[in-house]
Amino acid sequence: MPSPQPIPSPAELQDKLYINGEYVKGKSGEWYTLYNPNDDQVISDKIPIAGEADVDDAVNAAQDAFYGPWSKFTSAQRGACLRKLADILNEDERLEKILTLDALSTGNPISIIPTREKNYIIGQLNYYAGWTDKMRGDYFPADDGFVKLVRHEPLGVCAGINPFNAPVATLIMKTAPCLATGNVMILKPSENSPLGSLAIAALFEAAGFPNGVFQVLTGAGHTGAILAEHMRIRKISFTGSVATGKKIQIAAAKSNLKRVTLELGGKSPALVFEDADLDNALTWTVNAILARSGQVCVAASRIYVQKSVAEDFIERYKQRMKEAVAKMGNPLEESTLIGPLVNKAAFERVNGMIERGRLEAELVVGGVRQSERGCFVEPTVFLNPKEGAEIYKNEIFGPVSVIKTFENEEEVLALANDTEFGLMSGVFTKDLNRALRMSALLESGVVGVNCVSSMNVQVPFGGKKASGIGREFGEYALRSFTEPKTILIK
Ligand code: NAD
Repeated sequence: MPSPQPIPSPAELQDKLYINGEYVKGKSGEWYTLYNPNDDQVISDKIPIAGEADVDDAVNAAQDAFYGPWSKFTSAQRGACLRKLADILNEDERLEKILTLDALSTGNPISIIPTREKNYIIGQLNYYAGWTDKMRGDYFPADDGFVKLVRHEPLGVCAGINPFNAPVATLIMKTAPCLATGNVMILKPSENSPLGSLAIAALFEAAGFPNGVFQVLTGAGHTGAILAEHMRIRKISFTGSVATGKKIQIAAAKSNLKRVTLELGGKSPALVFEDADLDNALTWTVNAILARSGQVCVAASRIYVQKSVAEDFIERYKQRMKEAVAKMGNPLEESTLIGPLVNKAAFERVNGMIERGRLEAELVVGGVRQSERGCFVEPTVFLNPKEGAEIYKNEIFGPVSVIKTFENEEEVLALANDTEFGLMSGVFTKDLNRALRMSALLESGVVGVNCVSSMNVQVPFGGKKASGIGREFGEYALRSFTEPKTILIK
């Protein structure tokens, strides 16, 4: 197996796709330009847009691997490859270098790499490495004359289509359970964050995976659509917006009914009750809207505070959001906690929502359009939105929160559930009975008690209602990359 090469620079990665164990030029002859949202400078004007011929090449190589060498790997060998990949990433600061490549175009601060991102990625690889030889089937007694066995079989060629906000973490979130169960993966990173995904690709062969098991195609929606429509791709694991998720499900239905997992947007509520530890509630809710500048699907963007503690909580929340401005800056500096938004389009979209929000709610923190270079949006807080206000109803995907007060459980439940989103909720209370009551009644795939905007690899993650279909993480992710086959023996 090849030894791991040094992590390439952006210049070395440009004009490259990763197909069948090699960096190759795209066949479409089309490229796009990648910008740095910190200073608006061009990172590369040569990121390839993979077209149909490139996708076919990747699917051919993926099928060859799936039916060929990869099918001969034992479950323990698959686990060893995942573990080896974790080791390679851990050595020589490889993962730090890969994540820093993405920080150039996403604006994610590198300060989160050692404290959060690195452990999260390595943890997922080791977690799924441990599962490979523990995936069991089933047996039912032959009392009716048939022995019944159930096998959980891989689906074949799968594709992952990713958003921009946590590129390598999302890549591993999809790829680790996909490969653990014996599938192969073609990954399309977001057009806003291709570099880290391209850089990590060559390490898969160094970890022992055969050529074609993991491949990367760059490009935007058009490339994603080719994957979603492809007749030989058996599953799309998608993370991104609701609008794109719907298109992917339609494309899957119109082509070969490929399996689809959709991890979509959110408008997560945090419910702060009068008996809560307010310091804890403040820390979680503020961090939950400022991490990655609010560009997180589970960001707590709606805060509901019980009236008896509202004045105190809101004053302190406002103060913390104002103070956070001091932590904004160049994402490549270690002191920075809040970087810019991902690109000019996001900057204009969020500023537009803030401007319209002024007419529909009380702006109490931030909201001043930054005119200097880069795509920076300062932490912004609105109070008491009008019913149906855009900033209250829609996902903003920026460091902008909306606060409302409530009298009682019944009222806050109705408010929190009055949305098509259903990804995450948070309940802050010391009353265990109330916490369990609320957890059962909140319409979201995940409920945090005395925490919010948090995920854990051991347990399913995903959305109710329009926030998604299917679950990632835990054993559920493994199930979503396999299909049961029943064997009846007479
Ligand atoms: P997006 O939907 O714009 O793009 C996501 C991906 O889909 C990109 O790779 C894009 O190129 C691709 N794409 C676009 N059009 C396509 C098409 N027609 N067919 C196939 N692929 C297509 O999302 P984004 O702006 O990159 O990310 C932000 C969104 O992602 C937010 O809504 C956020 O809440 C959501 N998100 C959800 C989760 C989750 O786990 N639920 C996690 C992170 C982000």
